[in-house]
Amino acid sequence: MSVQVDFEAEIRRVGQALADAMPTHARNPLEAVDRKAMELAERDERLQAALLRLVDVTPACRSLEDLAGHLKGYLDEVGERPPSLDAAMRAAHTKAGRVALGAAATAGVRHMAHRFIVGESPRDALRAIERSWAEGIGTSLDLLGEATVTQAEADRYAERCADAIATLARAAAHWPERPALERDSLGPIPRTNLSVKVTALTPLIRPEAPHVGREDAARRLRPLLRAAREARAHLHVDMESVDALETTEDLFFSLLEEDEFRAGPSAGIVLQAYLRESPVQLERILDRARRAQREVALVVRLVKGAYWDHEVVEARQQGWRPPVFESKADCDRNYERLTRRLLDARPLVRLLIASHNLRSISHAIALNRLSGGEDRDLELQVLRGLGDDLARALARSGLRVRTYAPVGDLMAGMAYLVRRLLENTANESFLHDWRGGAPLEELLAPP
Ligand SMILES: Cc1cc2nc3c(=O)[nH]c(=O)nc-3n(C[C@H](O)[C@H](O)[C@H](O)COP(=O)(O)OP(=O)(O)OC[C@H]3O[C@@H](n4cnc5c(N)ncnc54)[C@H](O)[C@@H]3O)c2cc1C
Repeated sequence: MSVQVDFEAEIRRVGQALADAMPTHARNPLEAVDRKAMELAERDERLQAALLRLVDVTPACRSLEDLAGHLKGYLDEVGERPPSLDAAMRAAHTKAGRVALGAAATAGVRHMAHRFIVGESPRDALRAIERSWAEGIGTSLDLLGEATVTQAEADRYAERCADAIATLARAAAHWPERPALERDSLGPIPRTNLSVKVTALTPLIRPEAPHVGREDAARRLRPLLRAAREARAHLHVDMESVDALETTEDLFFSLLEEDEFRAGPSAGIVLQAYLRESPVQLERILDRARRAQREVALVVRLVKGAYWDHEVVEARQQGWRPPVFESKADCDRNYERLTRRLLDARPLVRLLIASHNLRSISHAIALNRLSGGEDRDLELQVLRGLGDDLARALARSGLRVRTYAPVGDLMAGMAYLVRRLLENTANESFLHDWRGGAPLEELLAPP
């Protein structure tokens, strides 16, 4: 009992220290245009839907007038509109008004996209990545372009990934030393870090025939693993919706079990704590990691999961029980259980805690410390645009932190942007409560 009390006290102490290390405006990170839009959207579900549909349709619009027409259509469906939106609707009655409204909407969407997307290409992104490195924050680059539909698109995505590894590795050779980012007690940690999506590596993902997608994606992932090994880079495979889970896991391990990858590169997979099956999945992952007998530890990024709405809607349409927890507290408790299991599984794995939730992060840091681990043996990860202040606070506290930074054009980034908007406007999220001014004591309480 007293061990539990001490543990909770340590979690509160870590959380308080991190909150103190963040600037006061961190409680209100959505500035200017998008803050207003998000605040409005949080109040009204139909307005939120209108905003998401606008983001989604922007790249397909032929003209500003066309975009304004869509916006007006979406807003027509919103019952009680705030005065600013009523004024926008009135403007849409004239051609000049529609052009102005379309321009304002495009600027708004671009502004939002730039909060989350670091540049159009890896070369473009270098300056921001180097600035972060100087502040003690690593980066994992993500090339936007999920769910390809043709073989040519998948080839192009793989080429862009290979180019990103080469561009980053060349630049990283000149970065100043940052010991906290470069070594843990198991050995060196690569400076270059790329995250890839399996649905972008093949158009053939079918849950009923996982081997088809796996074999097609393997043709493109294998050369990327070789490139990462040559460049001493880390390659991380993201996890997407449940439809792609089996293909992704099988692909990842079947390649890493090949002899040529026994000594490298450093490679990682993602575990989603919102999945009811995740504890079973974790045991399977640990078992496969053991059997692969690789010389480098498997890296596991623990997340809650970004496709919650999609999984629930999809399951309900089919009349199935959703594969995800339906209570946020269940998901958060499972996240803590998986954190403990993963910390216990070292040195077989290196653990990455990817979350913006101060409770989930403080729990992992406290548990690591109280079980005798060193801070450098835990990596914290945040999303660009959502966790920038948190990343700085973690870096200033001497912890290893990395930002996940998407690169690409607006068109390819729409699905990503919509997911981030859903996260920002969801009522059941840490960031929502944090921005709403909930007391820290409450935010750090056990789920
Ligand atoms: C570096 C990084 C990499 C990431 N990579 C991936 C990835 O590869 N795949 C992926 O899927 N996600 C990924 N994510 C996103 C992640 O899954 C979360 O969506 C996001 O981080 C929000 O979780 P949180 O702990 O920050 O916030 P919190 O506010 O604590 O949690 C929000 C999350 O709780 C869950 N949730 C919300 N409502 C409910 C409910 N009613 N019942 C049950 N659960 C609920 C959802 O998963 C939601 O995203 C990544 C995040 C980061 C920071």
